[in-house]
Amino acid sequence: MTADTAGIGMTSARTRDRLVQRLKDQGIRSRPVLEQIRNVPRHLFVDEALASRAYEDTALPIGHGQTISQPFVVALMTETLLADFDGETVLEIGTGCGYQTAVLSPLVKKIYSVERVPELLRKTRQRLRDLNIYNVQFRPGDGWDGWPKYAPYDGIIVAAAAPELPEKLLEQLAPGGRLVIPIGPPGRQELTLVTRKDDHFEQVSFGAVSFVPLVPGK
Ligand code: SAH
Repeated sequence: MTADTAGIGMTSARTRDRLVQRLKDQGIRSRPVLEQIRNVPRHLFVDEALASRAYEDTALPIGHGQTISQPFVVALMTETLLADFDGETVLEIGTGCGYQTAVLSPLVKKIYSVERVPELLRKTRQRLRDLNIYNVQFRPGDGWDGWPKYAPYDGIIVAAAAPELPEKLLEQLAPGGRLVIPIGPPGRQELTLVTRKDDHFEQVSFGAVSFVPLVPGK
C-alpha cells in the first residue's frame, strides 16, 4: 500500500468523514452513495498539486478546460438516478476524470461511458484500471449521439449541461428508464430527471446546478 492509498494526511479517514457528514447535512440520504463518497479516493482523480483540496465539496480543474464535479452534485445525481432503479445498464456522458464513474461503478452492473476529449479518456481508463474497476466500457465520441450500439439503457447520466433535452438520449432510454441531466443555459441550469413512461416522458427538476456545457457535436 502506498502513502496515497493508505489515506494519510489530507486524505485521512477523518477528512473523508467530514465530507460525508457535509453531504448528509445537505440532504443526501442514500447509504450506498454516501459509502461510495467515503470509499472513492478523490485525491487520485486530480493533479497532485490539488490533492490537498480533494475532499472539499467543490469542483476542481482537471485540464482541457474541464472540471471534476463537486462531490455533492455527484452524490445527488447518483442518488437520483438509482432511486427506484431496477435495471442493469447505465450510459454516462462526460466521463472526464472518471470520478462519477467510480462512484457509480459498484452500484450498477455495467456502465457505458462517452467522452469527447480522447486525452482525458486515455488517462481515465488507466486510473480506473488501477482502482480495479472493470465494469465500464469507454468510447471517445459525441455525447449528443449517445451510444446506439448498446441501447436501450436503464439509466443515463449526463455530466455537462445541455440547452435542451438531447433527442437521441431520450430514444436510447429503456421503458421505465431514468435520465439525469442538467438542462438550461449557463447560470440557469436545472438538474433534471426524465423518466420514460409507457407513452410519454415525465420530467422533474431538482434545483439549480452549475456544469460545463455539453459541447455541440460536429
Ligand atoms: N464526470 C466527471 C465530470 C466531467 S466534466 C466527474 O466525475 O468529475 C464534463 C465532461 O463532459 C468533460 O470531460 C467534457 O469533456 C465532457 N463533454 C462535454 N461535452 C461533451 C460531449 N458533447 N460529448 C461527450 N463528452 C462531453
